[in-house]
Amino acid sequence: MRSKYIWMDGDLVPFEQATVHFLNPTMHYGTGVFEGIRCYETRRGSAVFRLKEHLQRFIDSAHIAGILDYPYSAGELYNAVHLTIRANGFAACYIRPMIYMTGPLTLTLDDWTPATGIAVWEWAPFLGKEAAEKGVRMMVSSFTRHHPNVMMTKAKISGNYVNSTLAKTFARRAGFDEAVMLDPQGYVAECTGENLFIVRDGVIYTPPRTTILEGITRASVITLARDLGYTVVEEPIARDQLYIADEIFVTGTAAELVPVGEVDFRRIGNGRRGPVTQAVQELFHETVRGLGARSHEWLDFVDETVIAC
Ligand code: PMP
Repeated sequence: MRSKYIWMDGDLVPFEQATVHFLNPTMHYGTGVFEGIRCYETRRGSAVFRLKEHLQRFIDSAHIAGILDYPYSAGELYNAVHLTIRANGFAACYIRPMIYMTGPLTLTLDDWTPATGIAVWEWAPFLGKEAAEKGVRMMVSSFTRHHPNVMMTKAKISGNYVNSTLAKTFARRAGFDEAVMLDPQGYVAECTGENLFIVRDGVIYTPPRTTILEGITRASVITLARDLGYTVVEEPIARDQLYIADEIFVTGTAAELVPVGEVDFRRIGNGRRGPVTQAVQELFHETVRGLGARSHEWLDFVDETVIAC
């Protein structure tokens, strides 16, 4: 996760000096907001995938978290992301913008001032490189995904990820790669950092948006699957529908598009990547690398940025 510089409120700060004080309210109480974005190498140079959508979700997350008067516009953040990538000289990287709060430990947003940082680093697919073909093994977690009136699910708020960390850690300790989390009604919600899709009789199903993070990879994959002619249905999915799916795959910026070969010791399909997953995955990989029909719509080329905002 190393780089030369981290952007901190307008300055490119050397990596070692990009530190935050121990008495930081985000560290104590969890009100922080972050994004996860990827920049890919393409034939025309480095390009960020769906940067505008990620920055809109970042600003929406701050709004949902109750942060008033957030000082940066999407345009300013857009330029800062491009600047940070260029300063670090990565052809491909993961991008982590974050808002952290500064001020006294009073549990009151209005006593705090938001500060913003942007880090970039080179990061392989989160669930491992071989997972894209071999698939991963999952268990249904005993931890429930957030009730929407306890921790709101549309925002990438740092504190939300205590729930993800518990589910992921216990899945890993039990020998699985990742956890599937059920919503408070018991329907499939999402994984700890990915959205989930199942395939049955050639139709793709995914849980509705209500109790999940509205993944940008999820939205992209729904569009790409429909471009390929598949029907994609958003409807509640029960746990046993996972077990009898022909294929399952999960999507996320860090993980990209990964097949699931096993859930709770039940083999899914042939236990490896199925044909529908492969077709959508290939189009996704082409698209992020500038080779798809949607690439021009979804990629921002780093060297072509006009600093206009
Ligand atoms: N669900 C959760 C809980 C996540 O943290 C993520 C990663 N941001 C996703 C789904 C996938 O979202 P995206 O495709 O926008 O990265």
